[in-house]
Amino acid sequence: MYVAETFASLQGEGILAGTPSFFIRSSGCNLRCRWCDTPYTSWLPEGTRRDVDDLVREAVASGMRHVVVTGGEPLLQRAIAPLTGALRGEGLHCTVETAGTIDPPFTCDLLSLSPKTSSSDPPGAWRERHVRTRSNLDPLHRLLGRFPEHQLKFVVVDADDLPEILALLDSLGGVDRSRVLLMPEGRTAAEVAAHAAEVAALCIQHGFRYTPRLQLDLFGGGRGV
Ligand code: SF4
Repeated sequence: MYVAETFASLQGEGILAGTPSFFIRSSGCNLRCRWCDTPYTSWLPEGTRRDVDDLVREAVASGMRHVVVTGGEPLLQRAIAPLTGALRGEGLHCTVETAGTIDPPFTCDLLSLSPKTSSSDPPGAWRERHVRTRSNLDPLHRLLGRFPEHQLKFVVVDADDLPEILALLDSLGGVDRSRVLLMPEGRTAAEVAAHAAEVAALCIQHGFRYTPRLQLDLFGGGRGV
């Protein structure tokens, strides 16, 4: 498994926000979001090869009951199935965070899906590949069917993102809005704060949940939080 970092922190986003968790952040991504907050796993991927057994030992030793396997895109890792199976085998609650563009075999207790909209599209050479990859919704359909315990988390820049999010949810059909979360875009607490009121109003208007980005509010962002 190609791993950028491991660390203990609080889950910063989603329905488990605030939960003490051990994070395993894989490196490598098949997307290139223009606002990516972990460019060291996408635009300039870096990390080290780690054994699954070694990662599981570290997770158990952390004393955390919750583990978050994130990225990058962790579903690109060939070891994703043995890793998630072994973590759950130790009795740990396992969240997998993914953009949902591929659907290899793996297991988890909570699947955190973060489909990307056009607000993520980058300029330059990666644009066409990014758009093509994020626009393929077949894997997302299959993942939703495989994992009833899921959340859908959308990064929102402003109200212009909503028509696209609503259309995507329509195309998925029958999505429980209590499992849909809107999250303000931003790589710093100040940037998130600038969008927060508008995103909160959109949640109230459309019946979605609002998710903070506690890693920015509490720790200022950066690596290892
Ligand atoms: S999917 Fe996630 S890791 Fe990949 S480029 Fe987008 S924000 Fe970064």
